[in-house]
Amino acid sequence: MKKPGRAISDMLSAGKPILSVEFFPPKTEEGARLILRTANALKSFGPDFVSITYGAGGSTRERTLDYGELLQEIFGFEVMPHLTCVGHSREELKGILQRFKDTGFRNIMTLRGDPPKGKTDFVPHPDGLAYGSELVAFIREHFPHFCLGVGGYPEKHPEAPSLEVDLGHLKHKVDQGADFITTQLFFSNADFFSFQDKCRALGIEVPIVPGILPALSFDQVTKFCDFCQATLPEELGKRLEAVKDDEAASLEVGVDWAHQQIKELFERGSPGVHLYILNRSASALSLVERLHADGLL
Ligand SMILES: Cc1cc2nc3c(=O)[nH]c(=O)nc-3n(C[C@H](O)[C@H](O)[C@H](O)COP(=O)(O)OP(=O)(O)OC[C@H]3O[C@@H](n4cnc5c(N)ncnc54)[C@H](O)[C@@H]3O)c2cc1C
Repeated sequence: MKKPGRAISDMLSAGKPILSVEFFPPKTEEGARLILRTANALKSFGPDFVSITYGAGGSTRERTLDYGELLQEIFGFEVMPHLTCVGHSREELKGILQRFKDTGFRNIMTLRGDPPKGKTDFVPHPDGLAYGSELVAFIREHFPHFCLGVGGYPEKHPEAPSLEVDLGHLKHKVDQGADFITTQLFFSNADFFSFQDKCRALGIEVPIVPGILPALSFDQVTKFCDFCQATLPEELGKRLEAVKDDEAASLEVGVDWAHQQIKELFERGSPGVHLYILNRSASALSLVERLHADGLL
């Protein structure tokens, strides 16, 4: 069994903003080359940790562990695997958690997961768990040493009838033993600050880490906003649409917007940001350079 890594909750309370990035396990050989190239490129600035998402089903789930191990062993990153309740019995979850522990992972992003493609309702495994909060409680009971992150939705989770109802569920999830919240992507900081104020008013006291997507193109960002039900500000939409056919110019617009967001988030006390980099390095590297120049990293 490997020695457990560093708890993200400790990183978040160290007083200096942290920067982390999210990978997803690739499905193709080309995707495998991309993630390795990106991990290698990001090594130079050393993100405080990297996370690796958990697939909707099948072999990508094995790859969460495989790539998580690789990112830890070969590149030396502190790795946080994600885990969802989708399709798993409690016994299976225990087996996966034991493997996470044996691998030396200290942190887990703890999620319910989405319903399978084409389905609108989440149906738990007959001997499984129905909500992110249940997974948090389950891990706290059986593997108490893990540091646990949970998802938060500044513009509300798509299935929730209102933000207030969703926030009540988030409070319950945190009360089960979550250590920090990472948010869904958002493009308007006003949405994040309002969400954060409402969380604090409800007595949610754990660190809230904004999740930022540096947009890559107009088409990609509209697709993501549609899926997550996040709002695309008119100004960002117009700027991206104006350079629709120019990859480099689109990336520049995305980085510029994300930079302004992060600058304000750090200046107003966010303990870190988590970048949704889609396994690509260019935006993250450019953002790090700018944030260093600002003296914010
Ligand atoms: C940071 C982050 C990382 C993610 N990573 C992944 C990943 O790796 N793999 C993946 O498949 N998906 C991932 N997702 C997507 C996530 O799985 C979906 O958004 C999913 O639909 C909700 O998961 P959750 O744990 O946030 O849900 P929950 O907290 O369980 O909430 C889901 C819905 O149920 C409601 N609810 C909660 N508790 C109750 C209750 N007791 N009674 C009634 N309603 C309730 C909530 O209001 C919400 O509408 C990620 C999301 C985020 C924000």
